[in-house]
Amino acid sequence: MGAERTTLTDGSPVPADGSHRTLRADGQQAGYVVLSAEERAKGFVEPVRHTYLHTKCGTTTNMGRALAETYARQPEFYSGTFCCHCGGHFPVGEFGEFVWEDTNQKVGTRAPGLS
Ligand SMILES: [Zn+2]
Repeated sequence: MGAERTTLTDGSPVPADGSHRTLRADGQQAGYVVLSAEERAKGFVEPVRHTYLHTKCGTTTNMGRALAETYARQPEFYSGTFCCHCGGHFPVGEFGEFVWEDTNQKVGTRAPGLS
């Protein structure tokens, strides 16, 4: 058996019962799934960015290294992300509601011309 391809942000196993998706008082999940450190070490196809802007409210949210590196390794990994102002999760991707700070690039997409 090889290492699991995904873990939680702290490197612990993803709970089979989905309990990591339980929402905390602030609206964030109890835990977030990321690509494993081994998987992320294979290389990034996008820059590692830590801050995104929710275009609906104009507020930026910061995320930790494991999440940022997961986006950099596999931009399409997530279907949605958290806004610290709105206190909820909203879509990412080409038709999503987030751009990387100081860019027009949608979170969850790849820059044109790169692959
Ligand atoms: Zn927001």
